[in-house]
Amino acid sequence: MLTFQQLFPITGSTEGRLVQDRPVVHLLTDSRKLSQPAGTLFFAIRGKHNDGHLYLGQLYGLGVRQFVVEEATGLAALYPEANILQVKDSLIALQAIAAWHRAQFRIPVLGITGSNGKTIVKEWLAQLLSPDEMVVKSPRSYNSQIGVPLSVWQLDEHHIFGIFEAGVSQPGEMANLQKIIQPTLGVFTNIGSAHDQGFASHEQKTAEKLQLFSQVDLLFYCRDHTLIHEAAQAKGIPAFTWSRKQAADVTIVSSTVSGHKTIVGYTFRGEQHSLAIPFTDEASVENTLHCLAVLLYRGLPLTDIQDRMDRLQPVAMRLEMKEAINGCYLIDDTYNNDLAGLSIALDLLASQLGRGRRTLILSDLLESGMAEEKLYAKVATLTQAHGVERLIGIGPTIQAHAAKFEGDSTFFVSTGDFLQQFSPDQFRNELILLKGARVFGFEKIVHAFQQKVHGTVLEVNLDALVHNLNYYRSKLASGTKLMVMVKAYAYGSGSFEVANLLQFHRVDYLAVAYVDEGVSLREHGITLPVMVMNPSPDSFAKLRQYNLEPEIYSLEQLHDFLATAQAGVSHKIHLKLDTGMHRLGFTGEDFEELFALLRQHPQVRVASAFSHLAGADEALHDDFTNMQLATFSKLAEEAEARLGYTFIKHILNSAGIVRFPEHHLDMVRLGIGLYGVEATGSQQEALQPVSTLKTTISQIKRIRQGETVGYSRKGIADTDKTIATIAIGYADGYDRRFSNGGGEVIINGRRAPIIGNVCMDMCMVDVTGIPAKAGDEVVVFGPQLTLVELARRIGTIPYELLTNVSARVKRIFFSE
Ligand SMILES: *Cc1c(COP(=O)(O)O)cnc(C)c1O
Repeated sequence: MLTFQQLFPITGSTEGRLVQDRPVVHLLTDSRKLSQPAGTLFFAIRGKHNDGHLYLGQLYGLGVRQFVVEEATGLAALYPEANILQVKDSLIALQAIAAWHRAQFRIPVLGITGSNGKTIVKEWLAQLLSPDEMVVKSPRSYNSQIGVPLSVWQLDEHHIFGIFEAGVSQPGEMANLQKIIQPTLGVFTNIGSAHDQGFASHEQKTAEKLQLFSQVDLLFYCRDHTLIHEAAQAKGIPAFTWSRKQAADVTIVSSTVSGHKTIVGYTFRGEQHSLAIPFTDEASVENTLHCLAVLLYRGLPLTDIQDRMDRLQPVAMRLEMKEAINGCYLIDDTYNNDLAGLSIALDLLASQLGRGRRTLILSDLLESGMAEEKLYAKVATLTQAHGVERLIGIGPTIQAHAAKFEGDSTFFVSTGDFLQQFSPDQFRNELILLKGARVFGFEKIVHAFQQKVHGTVLEVNLDALVHNLNYYRSKLASGTKLMVMVKAYAYGSGSFEVANLLQFHRVDYLAVAYVDEGVSLREHGITLPVMVMNPSPDSFAKLRQYNLEPEIYSLEQLHDFLATAQAGVSHKIHLKLDTGMHRLGFTGEDFEELFALLRQHPQVRVASAFSHLAGADEALHDDFTNMQLATFSKLAEEAEARLGYTFIKHILNSAGIVRFPEHHLDMVRLGIGLYGVEATGSQQEALQPVSTLKTTISQIKRIRQGETVGYSRKGIADTDKTIATIAIGYADGYDRRFSNGGGEVIINGRRAPIIGNVCMDMCMVDVTGIPAKAGDEVVVFGPQLTLVELARRIGTIPYELLTNVSARVKRIFFSE
């Protein structure tokens, strides 16, 4: 086992301090993912948006005693029991340690890269090679400069085959990953346009990726990808190829779709064979053929190959979070179940605070190779470390080890047994993680937990949200604070989930419109400071009780607030200044009285003063905006002088952040940009769409020329038509202005216009010539049909469309 002392020669560093030599068991790069402090080695990594050094104190407080840092001054005194290794670059140290670890094993290791399909080929190969090979693989898509070392670190004595994926976004990265993975075999899936930005050309990108395979004994790829073939040949890399067009090690001679399968005829070593692949889409077939090549090379009997292929399952790439019965939420991760996957899913569970009790429903683990005793002891420690409060174990093996699990735990031999005694009132306000191996059929449990779904859902992509957050963060100087507007149910996308994520990603402030919104954030475990923009006097008591901070915009309101103040209890307020919007706020004329009052009530502290721009998004208003900016800075300066202390000053919204970088001041207020709409229109491509509104087709009708559709007979068929009735109407927030061709939806990839008037719960679309049947999915807005376009069509703004999606539309949150 690796110990701290050995890290000095491994990383080549001589700086640091060794208090007591300890084993290094867990490598940690994200302080939020700490689960077992003893044995943890924390790497303080400096990233674009964060600095690991900021969390040393917190981690030390939680019991972590081993650190890799870039800046060690003063740490020895602060953390007397800590072992400290000082290096030039903590990330490089992490990589060096992983590379050292990898070199301890003499097993075949397969590296996978390519533009698409890496994760799927990795997961499938692992499925196909087990049970006879103890395969270690990257968890999910851990393929980055940090993910790869963490993946490789999992290697241990009982593995006989390793599969790791590697992804790069800019030149120079792959050589690093090669040194860590040290692959002896390789799969190059394909080369496409993903992550093109970082590379001058596809050739450059191919050459870069090929560096992963500089030392392999054999590289698997499809010979028809000419770029890959030529580059591999030029480098003299030994190849094992398959092709649909020319002679190769595996030559595909026929391919026909039959039902849900694709039957592929191929020749291998001069003989003809056929294989039934359980998929029909192009990408899945290609991914399967990569796997076939590897299996043939490994010498698996053909009958076994077919057997295993039959059992291949689509890879669930998303961890979905769904609403369920009685205020519960489900994280549905019912596709594989091994230790690494369990640990990642538990991280997600742990990051969702305040959603009530944390429940885990777990099947037997299919982790071959480790003794059951040891395996379930590990599972018990993991669940405990991640704060699981209720465990339901399903399967004979986990049941046999029931005694290892402390606290609230129940066990069932099978999924059927569990369902038999299942009743909805046993679950209330819980966050339930479902983690089950496929054979346990947990879909049935998911089904039992899901409320009856109204056909319309708003899917919220949490990864896109984080991407957008980071985009705006990258525009801020370090030290500039970030307030995020989560008013109006987080612009329609669901406030707790979004607030939770923002808290996890450490924004500085949240803002809501009303006290009730703030109260509900607090009730869901949000502890960030929350500003309430429009608190009414009758809600001041609640505001104090829940430690919310009011915006104060008038003398009258301040009098009301002070009237309810309790002596000796301090309270923070935020002053709104009117610099030209003429909505709410103080002007200079109020200052005399305002500050006289505040001086009389020193327990009321001004935490910030702010103003709002009326036209930050349009150059047309720049003179006016500059006037507002100047007025604000003058008023804020005067306010500070009169108060005798300083406070946070902020004026910019999303558009302002982009257009007025010199005026970020102490804090900015991010709104619509977080939700994927770039208000100035100039940097829309930098953001990712967050919400997709979907519904379904209820019925298809054929109508004759001259017949009419819907209320007031507004939709008139000018020819014979096929009409689809879809399950969304103005009560769901689908604007009535979309009536009569005003709006379009997407059905099976094609655009279909609204025909007739939008009704309360439904509307009709013209699907003439579009393949469509009852039950098909309809995209109302999303990445291919943007809010910006739809808003323009009916003369409104994306804000209105987003926030109009009504509460009865179910929100589904997911993350890749
Ligand atoms: C809503 C709001 C914002 C955010 O505006 P966006 O245009 O969505 O970025 C900022 N400040 C105030 C006072 C707001 O009400």
